[in-house]
Amino acid sequence: MDGKKVALVTGANKGIGFEISRQLGKHGFTVVLAARDEKKVAAAAARLRGEGLDAHGVVLDVTNPSSAEAAARWVDKRYGRLDVLVNNAGVGFEFATGTKPSQLKMETLKATYDTNFFGVFAVIQHMLPLLRKSASPRIINQSSTLGSLGTSSDPQSPTYGVNLLAYNSSKTALNGLTLAFAKELAAEKVSVNSVCPGWVKTDLGSDAAPRTVEQGAAIAVKLATMDDPPTGKYLDDRGEIRW
Ligand code: NAP
Repeated sequence: MDGKKVALVTGANKGIGFEISRQLGKHGFTVVLAARDEKKVAAAAARLRGEGLDAHGVVLDVTNPSSAEAAARWVDKRYGRLDVLVNNAGVGFEFATGTKPSQLKMETLKATYDTNFFGVFAVIQHMLPLLRKSASPRIINQSSTLGSLGTSSDPQSPTYGVNLLAYNSSKTALNGLTLAFAKELAAEKVSVNSVCPGWVKTDLGSDAAPRTVEQGAAIAVKLATMDDPPTGKYLDDRGEIRW
């Protein structure tokens, strides 16, 4: 095992996750790109290696706990520890449809939570033993300002009208998970935070979004690389977000 820090990013085959992986690679990390499609993750990791970065792909479908377990075993065998876990994989089925809460199908609600909430829980539980072996372990949960009850309930907020029950509440639940793990792991100096990348041009964010993936990746990369990271916070580029 060399002295390089090891980061694992879920949903890393495209979008913000791919860009976070690239930027962490540029910061000198060994980056494990995790994604559910074997070919896509291999291609994404090869692309970053082509840019001279130390990048490797592993299959991880966050909705399948045995897949998370297998990915953790792979990291353990290869590196023996994990320094940074970025829980970035996420789905937002209602963005394309604009489905109102009263029209939302139970299966859509459950599928959203499977990825955005239960998936993160499973990945954290399987990666925690490896994170505990790091000198400065960090868990970064890719949330959204849409998960903020503070802004969702504020008629002055620009996102007040974005009333997507499954997506928004799954990120609210994710924020609760962030706080719970942050409290439990504070004594062990494991930093656990939620971040919002802003509205970013990706398949999920659409072409209408004003921000680039570089801008969207910045807050997660900052938390992964800064000295003495905070814990139990909900952050974007501008600072703390109301819970
Ligand atoms: P994206 O381009 O659609 O990428 C989403 C990623 O998540 C893809 O790699 C996707 O893999 C992966 N994923 C979905 N389900 C998965 C599963 N079961 N297991 C493993 N990976 C899975 O979207 P993005 O905009 O980069 O979003 C990344 C994160 O940022 C999400 O958590 C999203 O909620 C959050 N976010 C985005 C915005 C925005 O404006 N874009 C704003 C706030 C928060 P496949 O390619 O296999 O589908």
